[in-house]
Parts: sequence; structure tokens; C-alpha cells
Amino acid sequence: DNLLEIKNVKADVDGKEILKGLNLTIKRGEIHAIMGPNGSGKSTLCNVIMGNPHYTVTDGEILFEGENIVNLKVNERAKKGIFLSFQSPEEIPGITVDNFIRTSLNAVTNKNMPMLQFAKSMKEKMDMLDMKQEYRTRYLNVGFSGGEKKKSEILQMAMLNPKLVMLDEIDSGLDIDALRIVAETVRKLKTEDMSILIITHYNRILDYLEPDVISVLAHGRIVKEGDKNLAKELEKTGYESILDEVLS
Ligand code: ADP
Ligand code: MG
Ligand code: MG
Repeated sequence: DNLLEIKNVKADVDGKEILKGLNLTIKRGEIHAIMGPNGSGKSTLCNVIMGNPHYTVTDGEILFEGENIVNLKVNERAKKGIFLSFQSPEEIPGITVDNFIRTSLNAVTNKNMPMLQFAKSMKEKMDMLDMKQEYRTRYLNVGFSGGEKKKSEILQMAMLNPKLVMLDEIDSGLDIDALRIVAETVRKLKTEDMSILIITHYNRILDYLEPDVISVLAHGRIVKEGDKNLAKELEKTGYESILDEVLS
């Protein structure tokens, strides 16, 4: 059962082609890691799946639960259950964490969650993330440390309960304890219906999340696929040997 199928996608940003015929399949319930050199197009891929209008798909299809979503807007994709945790979460002065999450949740579900239920659910998730309740009334990400921003992203994910979670370098800038808390929380929140696409340069988070599949993205394409041992191999050899193999 495929949740997401990306078929021969080409995508531009500012008139420059970044994705050059990318193919990728993510099964329902799968944890799929994407690794690859800096600037290879990993964040671009996430933005293209989410529908960020800054990125233009010029060819190919993105099938989500069998439906081509290429022409859908970000909010329409969010309603379908797609969630992206940004590599560099934005600071939003004037909007509290509470307000932001409540608004997103109500928009995605088309319902108003009663205040008490919302507060209870927030507390439960914030406790898992070891986040104090006072963050609820802080402006979103304003003055948050790198680690606190990543936790606030996971809190949003926890509340929205999407079908496809994309975590773009969620482990960058986290200390060892925060990394463990974030990774363990993601693992606890993951249901059988939820797929995770995780982008990382490091093995540590993969030791917690145990990906089913690891794909290597380079030069705008998926150039290799393997199981979790591929990450260990890459740590030893780097990307060059793979690229030599693929490009020769
Ligand atoms: P990765 O996440 O693998 O490091 P990115 O997807 O961020 O790579 O970037 C791939 C390429 O696309 C880079 O050359 C980058 O400079 C370019 N790029 C990505 N986003 C933008 C943007 N918003 N505007 C201009 N160039 C961009
Ligand atoms: Mg990068
Ligand atoms: Mg990136």
C-alpha cells in the first residue's frame, strides 16, 4: 500500500532546475530516510511535496493515496494529511504557539476542538517533549533556542496527527538529550497509518527511528536505495564512492 509515489518529478526554483527526474515511493507506515550531500535537493523535495509555491514542478506526478496532488495548494495538502517540519522553523511574532496550533488544527480537521480537550491534548504532548506549559503563550519560535524550535515543530506534528510526516534535519542543532526526547516522541507518536520521511546527515537519530528504507539523493535524483545498514556504510565511505558508481 503506497502512501506517496513520486514519478519522474522535475522541479525548478527561481528558474533553476533542482529536481531532475526524481522517483520515490513511500509505503504506508514506512519510515524512509533520505540522505545526501549538501545542496542535492533534499529540502527542495520536501517543499515540492508540501506544495510550497516558491517551487515549480515542471514534469512528473506526485501521487498521494493514488491522487495526483501537484496542483493542490499547501493548505489542501495539509488537509490530506501532509506535514512538513522545516529545517529552519520561522519565527512568527504576534501569534502564540497555542493560537498557531489551534488554528492549524481547526483548519486541517474542519472542526473546532473544544478548549478543554485542546488544553489536555497539548499538555499530554508537551509533557512527552519535556516542554513547559508556559510555551503555549509565547510567540511561535520567537526567541526559542534551536532545540526549542525543533520541539515546537514536533508538538505541531503531534497535535495534527498527519499521515505523512516530513522531518527535514530535525536533529540538527539538538543536544544529545533533546535529540533523544525528540526521537523517542516521534517514535511514540508514530502509528501504523503514519509514514515518516526523515532527512538527516547522522546515524544517531536513525538508531532511534530505525528506518525501513534509506534513499540517497544526489544531483536532483534518487541514486541509491538500501536498508538501514546503508547509513553505516555511508558514514564510513561518504558519498563519493556512490556518486562515482552512479555517474560512471
Ligand atoms: P539540501 O537540502 O539537499 O541541502 P536544497 O534543496 O536546500 O538542498 O537546495 C538545492 C539547491 O537548490 C541548492 O543549490 C540551493 O541553493 C537551491 N535552492 C533551494 N531553495 C532555493 C530557493 N528558495 N531559492 C534559490 N535557490 C534555492
Ligand atoms: Mg542543506
Ligand atoms: Mg536541506
